[in-house]
Amino acid sequence: MTEIHPYRVLLYYKYVHIENPEEFTAEHLAFCKELGLKGRILIAEEGINGTVSGTVEQTDAYMKAMKEDPRFADMVFKIDGADSHAFKKMHVRHRSELVTLRLEDDVDPNEVTGKYLEPKEFFEAMQDPNTVVVDARNDYEYDLGHFRGAIRPDITAFRELPEWIRENKEKLEGKKVLTYCTGGIRCEKFSGWLVKEGFEDVAQLHGGIATYGKDPEVKGQLWDGKMYVFDERISVPVNQVEHVVVGKDYFTGEPCERYVNCANPECNKQILCSEENEHKYMRSCTHECRVHPRNMYVKEHGLTEVEVAERIGKLGDEVPTAK
Ligand SMILES: [Zn+2]
Repeated sequence: MTEIHPYRVLLYYKYVHIENPEEFTAEHLAFCKELGLKGRILIAEEGINGTVSGTVEQTDAYMKAMKEDPRFADMVFKIDGADSHAFKKMHVRHRSELVTLRLEDDVDPNEVTGKYLEPKEFFEAMQDPNTVVVDARNDYEYDLGHFRGAIRPDITAFRELPEWIRENKEKLEGKKVLTYCTGGIRCEKFSGWLVKEGFEDVAQLHGGIATYGKDPEVKGQLWDGKMYVFDERISVPVNQVEHVVVGKDYFTGEPCERYVNCANPECNKQILCSEENEHKYMRSCTHECRVHPRNMYVKEHGLTEVEVAERIGKLGDEVPTAK
């Protein structure tokens, strides 16, 4: 059942020293545009991190060119088939860090990082009763899907993770600590930080969930829900054997895997909700967001003030988040 997709999405990173990153950023943007790729690439002195989409030919040309550069010769590309581009534009940006951790004492994953576990090893290690699995992603990523039994750090940005661990370190102490993230880049630093922090037995899922879901042996098992991705697809499947829905509708708590952004542009919070509830609650997470003067849902549907008031009136007391 090989499906033929005309497009591909590539996910990749490499921690490697890049001389004159700003200059390389400009050159790389021109190169990607010339190829016709779309996506988001970050370049720092410490390396490169990207997700791009393009046709099979375009992505082949990109991978070939990158592999000819000695700095990226051994870079691993995770490849997903797709029916179209997963981005609208091509961005290449220069940053001081590939993943924003802002540590007082930065971690170089080429010097210190957790043990790399291949999917099969990770699958087995997860089932050891003396193991804790820590999700190194954000809360909204976890809420759509995660490894069964994994710890959910209560964070909305990666840089909050070290502090969260310090405040909750009793959950990890004396255990074998496994970490995982989407493609592996966040764990390179996070697991290295855990080692520096004094945790003795730290391992990371090599290649991240993206690799785990494609492994022919483990087939994504013990993953529940879907994997959040930072492109127009929003989510992709992982577990090829069973699909357990863990996402819950923000308004009703019913099983749901559909993310939308709150229609108040100043809030923009990601909420899981069904199509029905999107309309019912005007895609707004709170009453304040619903009545915000720049509410996008109201604008998109051309609702008058009277119609908005009528809709809100109908919600009455059943609005769980109205305050
Ligand atoms: Zn909102």
